[in-house]
Amino acid sequence: MGTATGIIKALNSGVKHLAVKRFTLRYPEQKLKFVGDGYQFDPSSGVAIAGLKGRHMLFHDHCTGCQLCSIACEGVAEAIGMVKVPDKWGQNAKSIMPQIDYGKCVFCGLCVDACPFYALYMSNDYELSSFTKEGLIYTPAQLQVKPQVQQDSELIIDKRGARHG
Ligand code: SF4
Ligand code: SF4
Repeated sequence: MGTATGIIKALNSGVKHLAVKRFTLRYPEQKLKFVGDGYQFDPSSGVAIAGLKGRHMLFHDHCTGCQLCSIACEGVAEAIGMVKVPDKWGQNAKSIMPQIDYGKCVFCGLCVDACPFYALYMSNDYELSSFTKEGLIYTPAQLQVKPQVQQDSELIIDKRGARHG
């Protein structure tokens, strides 16, 4: 009796869900299209610009090497290390810039809030998986690369965050 009831319940649940549209996306063929370019912070006005907190974007021509982003991260995840960069920038006397370990980063955005020079934003790039720990460490050179819009995927816009397929 118990088994029969269980089967009926399972079938009932299955039938009910036939009418429910799928909530998940067929990743990677389908991906979310985000509004805006990601999370930013305007240090002049102290106002944040809402957006996805994905992989950071570092603007070398703005970064002074002040380390405030690294200090902000110290109490959170210690994901930022300051490293030497080969290029000389007039505003960056020590030629040091942040390198970010995405094995540690919790995507809180505090480093972006701490940057006074419009040098650090967060982009819509969330595809950061790697087979190695080293592959999760992004150098200043990697952080300055703008994320590419995927040409081989159907981009889905949805007000609820995901649309039924
Ligand atoms: S977003 Fe990542 S790198 Fe920036 S402060 Fe938070 S944990 Fe650190
Ligand atoms: S990214 Fe901003 S906070 Fe970090 S070192 Fe460069 S200028 Fe300073």
